[in-house]
Amino acid sequence: MTAGYRVSVDRDRCCGAGLCADALPTVFDQDDEGVVVLLDPAPGADLLADVAEAEFACPSRAITVHKAEESAA
Ligand code: SF4
Repeated sequence: MTAGYRVSVDRDRCCGAGLCADALPTVFDQDDEGVVVLLDPAPGADLLADVAEAEFACPSRAITVHKAEESAA
């Protein structure tokens, strides 16, 4: 397993504001009803700051960033 982070979305909570899809179109999309669709559950480290900002900005708290524990092999 690689250290890093993963993203999850709770489609039941999403209110379709669309902020995440606007900010990160390679990670988030919206379906025909505006509900978030997660395109990439493991974005690269270079996107972590932006994904964390999307998590913070989501008005429904529907985005969660799961930071992986660093495992010393
Ligand atoms: S920002 Fe939050 S509420 Fe808006 S589309 Fe994304 S997950 Fe849904």
